[in-house]
Amino acid sequence: MTPQATAAPGMSLPLAVPELRGNEWKYLKECLDTGWVSSVGPFVERFEREVAAYVGTSHAVAIVSGTAALHTALRVAGVQPDDEVLVSDLTFIAPVNAIRYVQAHPVFVDADPKTWQMDVEKVERFLSEECELRPAQSETALACRNKRTGRRVRAILPVHILGLACEMDRIVELARRYDLRVVEDAAEGMGVPYRRRHVGTWGHVGVLSFNGNKIITAGGGGMLVTDDRGVADYARYLTTQAKDDGLEYIHKEVGYNYRLTNLQAALGVAQLEQLDRFIERKRAIARGYDAAFRGVEGITVMPTPPETEPTYWLYTILLKEGTTVRERQAWIARLHEQGIGARPLWHPIHDLPPYQGCQSVEITCAPHLYARAVSLPSSVGLSDAEVQRCASIVKELLPR
Ligand SMILES: *Cc1c(COP(=O)(O)O)cnc(C)c1O
Repeated sequence: MTPQATAAPGMSLPLAVPELRGNEWKYLKECLDTGWVSSVGPFVERFEREVAAYVGTSHAVAIVSGTAALHTALRVAGVQPDDEVLVSDLTFIAPVNAIRYVQAHPVFVDADPKTWQMDVEKVERFLSEECELRPAQSETALACRNKRTGRRVRAILPVHILGLACEMDRIVELARRYDLRVVEDAAEGMGVPYRRRHVGTWGHVGVLSFNGNKIITAGGGGMLVTDDRGVADYARYLTTQAKDDGLEYIHKEVGYNYRLTNLQAALGVAQLEQLDRFIERKRAIARGYDAAFRGVEGITVMPTPPETEPTYWLYTILLKEGTTVRERQAWIARLHEQGIGARPLWHPIHDLPPYQGCQSVEITCAPHLYARAVSLPSSVGLSDAEVQRCASIVKELLPR
């Protein structure tokens, strides 16, 4: 059985599968031949160095998953128990769970209908109308407080979804004004510049993921990127069990075993060598779909927000306005029958059981995007002919 078949049973055109035709075997063999298979080894350091150089930060810390990297990022950003963190509502759940891991509270921000990313207008309105800058009880420094809950709002966590970018200049400016930390989830944003600067490098700390379905994969893995040496050192300390004296087993803090292994890093290094080609391919796939869907009634193609060059990690369309979740589900089921591994966007998080009691900010757009959006096969290995075949089936089966 091919890996493609195991990755998406029954789908002749799976959603997104890894492309492993570079130096993956060679570098993995090097790990086995030299015995460096665990969480120390030359590929770990090389992967960190090369990712930092690629995104343009001075530091990168390799971590066992994007989720673990988000957990670490919130800790090194200084988010404390009972703080609040503004986070995108329309996202994969990992960044929200990470907020709970540090015992903070998510406040969900709606998606912008033009970009599908965190709606910055709504962030601004929330901060100016629902929050105030005042000192904490025993302190003199001003802190941003949510007037409704009395809690400190500590950070903004924008999630760059689908290989597009959030409006980071405006988010960073708001964070400065309200003294908030910015933790960027760029798990889907490897290779995406916003105003010529890589996503994940605008805030205090950013996170990338190398999970199997991301644009490049390490099998699993993540990376924390930052320009702050203290932040990088602290992240490295926390992710290696917070050892103060490794020989005597002295630990002054609660740490984690979150370090990436040399085997994973070897895969990551091999994949990174191919990233520019993968991005070109993703963009060509998006152009192919765009052209096929141009002028087709009932399909809205993916936006290309200004100031960014998307990678279109997962090419996603919207069905016509007013489409219900049920109609979209039925349509995806029909695509599956044709072997097309389509899938919806994530269920808005504010309405999922673990988070139903949390505050949310003007959520009106995210549920509509969730009802109407369908991601289409976007693997780097997809040929132009396959894109055309997929687009034809999509058009044929379009609900009328
Ligand atoms: C994949 C993903 C993550 C989590 O990364 P893992 O490496 O799978 O833990 C976090 N956020 C977003 C938006 C993702 O798509």
